[in-house]
Amino acid sequence: MFSLPPTPEDPVFALNRLFNADPSPTKISCGIGAYRDNSGNPTVLSCVKKAKDLIGSSTQNEYLPISGDAEFLSLSRELCFGSDPSSNVSSIQSLSGTGGLYLSLKLLSQIGCKKVYASNPTWGNHKSLSLNAGLEYSTYTYLDLTNLSSPSIDITNFLSDLSSMPINSAVILQACGHNPTGVDPTSEQWDMIVEKCRERKLYVIMDNAYQGFASGSPESDSLSIRKFLSSGLDFLVCCSYAKNFGLYGQRVGAVHVVSADSKNVVDAMKQIARATYSNPPKHGSDIVKTVLGSEELKKDWVREVGEMSERIREMRSKIREKLEETTGGSWKHVTDQIGMFSYTGLSKEQVMKCREESVYMLESGRVSVAGVNEGNLERICDVIGRAVG
Ligand code: PMP
Repeated sequence: MFSLPPTPEDPVFALNRLFNADPSPTKISCGIGAYRDNSGNPTVLSCVKKAKDLIGSSTQNEYLPISGDAEFLSLSRELCFGSDPSSNVSSIQSLSGTGGLYLSLKLLSQIGCKKVYASNPTWGNHKSLSLNAGLEYSTYTYLDLTNLSSPSIDITNFLSDLSSMPINSAVILQACGHNPTGVDPTSEQWDMIVEKCRERKLYVIMDNAYQGFASGSPESDSLSIRKFLSSGLDFLVCCSYAKNFGLYGQRVGAVHVVSADSKNVVDAMKQIARATYSNPPKHGSDIVKTVLGSEELKKDWVREVGEMSERIREMRSKIREKLEETTGGSWKHVTDQIGMFSYTGLSKEQVMKCREESVYMLESGRVSVAGVNEGNLERICDVIGRAVG
């Protein structure tokens, strides 16, 4: 017979459950990181609709190879690196970003890496994935929290934490649109980070879950990855097409391995994939491949991801304006931050006060700005205003 203690729920999904159970007609969820349009509805990008029409309903449903769709992987490399640098880069399709991180961390644990570090704070699943892969988990300093109205990277402590990591440790770096803080390193800071990773011989995993969402330009958002590429270091990139293509449930992603030994690394990852889920799903990669492989649809996509990112920026400005009006304080950090998320600076107690009024955000005070719209902005700001007032 089974005899198990209860398993703690993932905080993001637990929040969603609380939200769903709330009978209030005016409840608002600022929890889950999924894009909503200005009426609060999920969107299907028009380039995705067109791609689905082109794919049609009679496409074969055969297995993909364990490594996935080669054409999709080549287009994914091109998006990530600017061109397909095929000679020392090999790739494997993954179950979105999470699945790519799993393959990467499991591989590192198999080759003798003992410990992995992610930023403090970071996306909650980094820790669970690392422990699940059999690695020890710890964090490095990321944000200077002394002045929340002007958030910045605490680069001194960030670099000194990288310096004190044992050689052969792994470090997870978010390529852009940092979740949950919305604060990314500057170009100069990335140069210093790359140098430290080289010095400490760290295994680098670039978590690329928001390409296009941070600045509105997929190309600008790959700056950090291209810096690692031109440094000549070995590294891994885990790409997700959940957010930037709105393909959350399709589980489409890729891991790119940059190394002279990349083919052997991918072969080892294929073994892990084979013993875990055998081969990746096909429909999502068919969609991304159709969009990125067509000049016209790719243009549509670049425009649409830019529009989603721009709508979020507009919401940031309006939130700031409204909160400054109601609280009299500075909310500059809301417009300084980029990407889907804002680290509001609300305490846990203030977050709970918001929940009493049916406005839901994570205990850390993280708000998914992607869920804010003209219709709910006023109430969100009123409730936050009362909570901090
Ligand atoms: N990395 C980060 C930083 C994320 O925020 C997310 C999604 N919330 C992911 C990876 C993975 O998402 P998915 O598995 O849906 O691609």
